[in-house]
Amino acid sequence: MRTAYRCRAYPGPEQVTVLNRTFGCVRLVWNKTLAERYHAWRVEGKRTSYRETDTALTGWKRTQELAFLSEVSSVPLQQTLRHQHAAFANFFAGRARYPRFKSRAGKQSAHYTRSAFRMRDGQLFLAKISAALRFVWSWPEIDPATMNPTMVVVSREPDGRWYVTFAIDTGDTTAGGSGPAPGIGPEIGIDLGVADFMVDSTGDRVANPRHLERKARNLARYQRRMARCQRDSVNRRKAKAMVARAHRKVRNSRQDFLHRQSTRLVRDHNLIAVEDLAVANMVRNKRLARAISGCGWGEFRRQLEYKAMRAGKTLVVVDRWYPSSKTCSTCGHLLAELTLSVRHWTCPACRTRHDRDINAARNILAAGRAVARGDTLGDACGADVRRQGSPLPQSAVNQEARLRKRESPPQGKKSRWCQTWSARAGRTPVVAGSDNSPGEPIVDTRFTLVARATARVGCPGRCFTPTGMVITKYRTGEYTSDSTSSAHPSAIELFRA
Ligand SMILES: [Zn+2]
Repeated sequence: MRTAYRCRAYPGPEQVTVLNRTFGCVRLVWNKTLAERYHAWRVEGKRTSYRETDTALTGWKRTQELAFLSEVSSVPLQQTLRHQHAAFANFFAGRARYPRFKSRAGKQSAHYTRSAFRMRDGQLFLAKISAALRFVWSWPEIDPATMNPTMVVVSREPDGRWYVTFAIDTGDTTAGGSGPAPGIGPEIGIDLGVADFMVDSTGDRVANPRHLERKARNLARYQRRMARCQRDSVNRRKAKAMVARAHRKVRNSRQDFLHRQSTRLVRDHNLIAVEDLAVANMVRNKRLARAISGCGWGEFRRQLEYKAMRAGKTLVVVDRWYPSSKTCSTCGHLLAELTLSVRHWTCPACRTRHDRDINAARNILAAGRAVARGDTLGDACGADVRRQGSPLPQSAVNQEARLRKRESPPQGKKSRWCQTWSARAGRTPVVAGSDNSPGEPIVDTRFTLVARATARVGCPGRCFTPTGMVITKYRTGEYTSDSTSSAHPSAIELFRA
């Protein structure tokens, strides 16, 4: 596992000169290579390999007008070629957009691999810079003198602040032994929202911080002020610095908020269940785009993932089609429809009055529990709910592919499976259609079984009930239930029928 530590750096005047020149060269190499790549593709129709770009770089250093490229460390220049190569690989794989040119106004960075820096007594020495780069270390439990980083990244933000990032390989040893086994101990389900940032299954709410909004308004004001300034004027430059500062404040307070929340959750719980939100699709809604982007759900999920992995805790991401809001967490009744404006509702079956978000969080927790436990159920393949925990880290690529597949909801085959199930149970199912769950959960008059469409006939499948029971169907046509769970009594009865 790789960990990075980022801290403020304070380069001296000569160091600033060298680093700025390095940034300039990195940018030039990136942009020139990108332009030549594009040209080679459009005019000659051929792809450019990493080796070719590297050879071209050596060639540029020999020419008179680009001889200054040799004045800076060669490592950051080669690294930028590698990054561009990776960017193109991601582009061709459909994971990313076409790489863009780098601007001198944006964030600047230079990557130094082991051959280009040295750590001595906790001091950092970079290639082509004689004095040590001063940085402020903010992790008292880690001694920078004993640190062995694999990479050092020096960066300058548009607001003029300098940072240095140390990337460290911690090996495969996650802190797995520190906590109790996953699935035991405190568990929590989380429903993310816009008005309340999150509501958990215990009923606690964390409001969306208002101060972010106020800072965003400030940012808009500085941007307007800058827009009124004359181009290339001193005042515009000053206004621009203010905009960069305002951006930093928004960014930092959001990060601070998300880190506090995710750390608290991972520290206090062994199992955390969250919903898989299609953020990329949701921001397409123009009215909600800003509100949703401002929440930072994607970043929050990322933090939960790595923190859970580091602490040996289990994070379960519940399928996006799981009707968490519409299902009654007490009896399992599934509503046919529940509009967004309804904040409270009463279950028609058991008369429980629900808060929309708390109910959803409870359902997410139940689903998460079922999935975490379902791992022991052998060859069950109806894994429509993804499990993510310390023993099974998933690569970003893999997830991306799955997400992509998920864009089109699974269809067909569900009814046959449902029918088989209810025929065995001797009951007539009522299939409830719902707008966002193409799985079309089955609604039984006595008990609601949320059977997923992905559980195919003739194939082992698994489904879970809102109460947490896991029902598995095997190829032989047999069913088993997870009897250890707190299954709904009527469900077991139904199951035995
Ligand atoms: Zn109910």
